[in-house]
Amino acid sequence: MKKEIKTDYYDNFTCIADKCSFTCCQEWKIEVDDDTYIKWNRLSLTKQNNNYLDQYVKQKDGTRVIALNEQKQCPFLNEQKLCNLVLNLGDEVLSETCAIFPRQTHEFADRKEYSLVSCCPEVVDLINQQDKICFTKNMLDMDGDILLQIRTMMITIMQNQHFSISKSVMMLFYILLDIHQKESILKKDIDEYKDEAGLKELSEAIDNMQFLSLDTFEENNELFLDMTENYRKQEQYSSYLEPIAVIAENLSRDYDKHKMSVKLQEFEKQFSSYEKLFRNYLVVEIFSNSLMPESDLESIVVMFQWIAMEYAMMRHSIFLGWLLDEQEKLSYTVVRNYIVVISRMMGYDQEDICEYLEKSFENLIWEWGYLALIIGAEEGK
Ligand code: SF4
Repeated sequence: MKKEIKTDYYDNFTCIADKCSFTCCQEWKIEVDDDTYIKWNRLSLTKQNNNYLDQYVKQKDGTRVIALNEQKQCPFLNEQKLCNLVLNLGDEVLSETCAIFPRQTHEFADRKEYSLVSCCPEVVDLINQQDKICFTKNMLDMDGDILLQIRTMMITIMQNQHFSISKSVMMLFYILLDIHQKESILKKDIDEYKDEAGLKELSEAIDNMQFLSLDTFEENNELFLDMTENYRKQEQYSSYLEPIAVIAENLSRDYDKHKMSVKLQEFEKQFSSYEKLFRNYLVVEIFSNSLMPESDLESIVVMFQWIAMEYAMMRHSIFLGWLLDEQEKLSYTVVRNYIVVISRMMGYDQEDICEYLEKSFENLIWEWGYLALIIGAEEGK
């Protein structure tokens, strides 16, 4: 039997359905798999009507999905925010997407890995409650192929609290690029990257570089506007995106550099109170999305870039949300909402991620300086 590896809070997840502040039953592509579609051809919601469920299905971007209503909600979601399919016909008629969300499974030759995606606010709460992300089966001590060793090294460095989050992300990208340009790599080479003295040296080298917070802000603002363009056109997540996108547009035209530097410093202080949450978030992302059954070294580098970009976009959206809120204190609600929105917006599969990166950047694999630009440096550490 294959080993099963989970984040150790995995089994604690329960959907809170009608109590959910940001239901997954709206503004999303809810896929309908073949087996479900065949089942739905013969099923109606109640015995009294002959409206078979397949009439609620349409094609979108080459995929069969549930057709949302005018409010962009799933037609099966009732006024009490409960699912009419489950209430009338039971869990077994749900499509695979609805039945498993927010769970994700990757099956490798020697093991199965389970995780929960951050597109659900309940999952963000669970991540926030962990002092440190731990895994069942003590995954960090597990022997395995070289790609698994690389991911373990990435998680170990991400969890090393001697370095700030930004520093850890920059160091990891430097290491990944170094490994990527080697012709071959052995387990002992991977172990060397974890060596504290080597990491300290790398950290000091990064400290000696100059990072301008306004450059990071401007690049992330442009990326944010580019990333949200289609969602805004389609009026998806409007209540979350539109108000902050308007601020981003105004800032992209003109802003007072001195005032913005002060604001960014104030924000950084507020944002740092969520350090544990974001470190945990990044560890979970590295665990669940950097290594997949079909991965090679290049795809690990590409997925890490994407994870770093997601983090940069979350932080920027939260910054804009904080400006909009006009409160000194950065609220957990703002943080959680934008983790969920950006996770939903950027939760593409690997093929789509490569397509986006190839279209938007000169090369699929970035130079180290580009990742450093969007991540930026924090004060101290
Ligand atoms: S987002 Fe999460 S908690 Fe909310 S309805 Fe969906 S699965 Fe349940």
